[in-house]
Amino acid sequence: MSEKKIALVTGANKGIGYEIAAGLGALGWSVGVGARDARRREASVEKLRAAGVDAFGVPLDVTDEASVAAAARLVDERAGRLDALVNNAGVTGDMPQNPTGDGVVETVRTAVETNVIGVIRVTNAMLPLLRRSASPRIVNMSSGVGSLARQVASDDPATTGPLSVAYAPSKTFLNAVTIQYAKELRGTNIKINLACPGFVATDLNGFRGVRTPEQGAATAIRLATLPDDGPTGGFFEDAGVVPW
Ligand code: NAP
Repeated sequence: MSEKKIALVTGANKGIGYEIAAGLGALGWSVGVGARDARRREASVEKLRAAGVDAFGVPLDVTDEASVAAAARLVDERAGRLDALVNNAGVTGDMPQNPTGDGVVETVRTAVETNVIGVIRVTNAMLPLLRRSASPRIVNMSSGVGSLARQVASDDPATTGPLSVAYAPSKTFLNAVTIQYAKELRGTNIKINLACPGFVATDLNGFRGVRTPEQGAATAIRLATLPDDGPTGGFFEDAGVVPW
């Protein structure tokens, strides 16, 4: 079994996920680059390796049961355990997302399938591997727009994002699901937390974000490498705790 810490980052072929993989790699971790597109996945693995990271490709579509099961087998065969799972893969669904707009039912379904059910599917498939780690960590990538406290406090899109009947509530749902995992896993050595990356310039928002992907990766990296006395069941951004 490898002495290096082993991480799997979903959606690691670009954006924030790529920088989470790069950051953990720079700390000496072996990093599985979970990505559904073979060409983009291999390009990212090559780029990470060129930067000195011990990266390996993990074919992974979080919406596909067989793909997720195969990813767990691959990590098992390669490393025999998992020290950190970063559930970063996410989609917004088609925009605009005003609640009375055309096609919103399908858009909600798409966002929930990836951002919530995908996280549950991947987490449950990886839990046997995480349980073999001395200090297992799970990080779920949420968003400040998933904070109900922030949504009800303001109508200003600059604070809460545009009207979003699919994406923002899917992150609220993810937050609620994460609390349930934290409750079930309390008393084990597994820590599970939510990260908010801030507004980051990536494909997800047409590169309108104001932070770099590297900045957006920082909180997730911190939560993936928490010490044993660190928190669990929390929601964090760079500045501290995000209100629920
Ligand atoms: P991004 O550049 O669009 O990256 C999203 C990643 O998720 C891509 O690698 C994408 O793969 C992957 N993905 C989507 N669906 C997938 C699936 N079914 N299976 C596997 N991978 C899948 O966006 P990002 O901004 O880095 O987003 C990363 C995370 O941060 C997301 O959870 C997002 O909601 C969250 N977030 C972002 C911001 C922001 O301002 N950017 C703010 C708050 C939260 P493909 O290349 O194959 O599409």
